[in-house]
Amino acid sequence: MEYLLDVQIDPSKHYIKVLCTIKNRVSNTLYINENFIIHSVTAKGKVISHHMDRSAPHPPFDTISRPIIFDTEEKDIELEYEGYIPEIIADINQINEDVIELACYAGWYPKPEDSCTLFTFDLHLSIPKGYELASNGIIEYEDTTHIISKEEQSDIAIFASNKVRKIVIDDYAIRMVFLCPEEILPMIAGRALDIAKANSFYTELYGEIHTQSAKNEIISVLRPCGGWGYKRGNVSFVSYEWGFNELHYVGDFHELAHGWWSIANMTSEDWINEGGAEFSAYSAAKYIYGEEYANGMIANYLENIMNSQSVHSIVDTSASSEDRYLNHYTKTTIMFIEAQRLFGDERVFHMLRDLYQKFAGTRCATTEDFLSSCEPEMKTYFQKRLYSDNWIDILI
Ligand SMILES: [Zn+2]
Repeated sequence: MEYLLDVQIDPSKHYIKVLCTIKNRVSNTLYINENFIIHSVTAKGKVISHHMDRSAPHPPFDTISRPIIFDTEEKDIELEYEGYIPEIIADINQINEDVIELACYAGWYPKPEDSCTLFTFDLHLSIPKGYELASNGIIEYEDTTHIISKEEQSDIAIFASNKVRKIVIDDYAIRMVFLCPEEILPMIAGRALDIAKANSFYTELYGEIHTQSAKNEIISVLRPCGGWGYKRGNVSFVSYEWGFNELHYVGDFHELAHGWWSIANMTSEDWINEGGAEFSAYSAAKYIYGEEYANGMIANYLENIMNSQSVHSIVDTSASSEDRYLNHYTKTTIMFIEAQRLFGDERVFHMLRDLYQKFAGTRCATTEDFLSSCEPEMKTYFQKRLYSDNWIDILI
């Protein structure tokens, strides 16, 4: 599937207007922000009837979108729509004068329900001058800003802000680009060194990263406001407050690790992505900051597990579950640490490396795939942890 987009944004009015061509559409249902006005849908110049189903459930990770259903078999369609995003969606997506941040959470383009549907994109973006930009596509400046991704991705993410500076660090094996508020520029050198170390560490563990753009550069956006973090392609988006007064960048390591650990659909299988990323972040922290620091992380994970009332197992936890963080991030990390104690570091990393190599560039690894890449003894252990909500016998 391919998107061609012409996007105009007026930050002072929280306004967006889009002309969107979708080529090789894979589904008759796509999801879009329910507050947008769709002016037209056409295929080969003919008007296509369509309707939005407001009674249908929201897609995972996106509470503002509803399905639009198209009455056509044509694979290539064109939509014209506009709308306002006056609020901050999911704590991160917004169109404001200081910060524009758009990704799947805002339903700003007509997207498939599933994060396992991959696509390329080519977009022209008009915004006022004076904004620094980042995206999971390659940015070129022409008469408008042109952003292209020839690599298949599961989302289109755009960040623009007039409250950040861009700095490029070329001191390491990989080029690093930071967009961050002026006041944290003095802290960027230490952060860059640790991220570069974590990147080499992951490459050694799991093999060369599949994402072509991530072989060339790592882009870190430290947005000048709050909110949580996520990673798209070679760009991670986190709040500048993360680690503001600290010298440990485990949040950055987690997002960096998603360069490898984004191989499963963002459903109940998302534990593979989040468990893989958080366990990798823990492992990088142990390698870079030492055993004592890592033991502090273990104590925190265990405390969260012991204090929880969750009645769901890891694989029974959906993307919208309240227990998502506990079960998909925390318990999975402890599970991998416990597996290291039982089977040794090398066997655990070897299995993860095989799994990554097998599913790199896809979004289709499942729990079954995970289990079948384990040796029999390890498979029995992981099965027990993944399918049980009873963690009373943890060995750590
Ligand atoms: Zn994550």
